[in-house]
Amino acid sequence: MPATRWRTRGGPPVAHTATGPSWRCDACGQDWPCPALRAIPTDAARRATLIPEFSRITRRAIRDLRGRPGGPDPVAVVRRFLWFLPLTDEEARAIALRLR
Ligand SMILES: [Zn+2]
Repeated sequence: MPATRWRTRGGPPVAHTATGPSWRCDACGQDWPCPALRAIPTDAARRATLIPEFSRITRRAIRDLRGRPGGPDPVAVVRRFLWFLPLTDEEARAIALRLR
């Protein structure tokens, strides 16, 4: 389970986290990583901590989500779970091949 936390202004902390195989946000029920999580600004330091964490998560998500009727293909999973990296189609494909 990812350790990323999201604190709403003035309210209690809400954990926008998710686990497989559904990969829906525990807090808002949207496809995860959800818009609230993706809205958190990522600077170089945060990206450095996100990359290893989300590489593991993306590998699991590809296994969980591929082959589902109407589900995302591995390249779409890579783009979704590594949203904080500016990836070309080529790069997303290469990562999907490495992680499957
Ligand atoms: Zn959420």
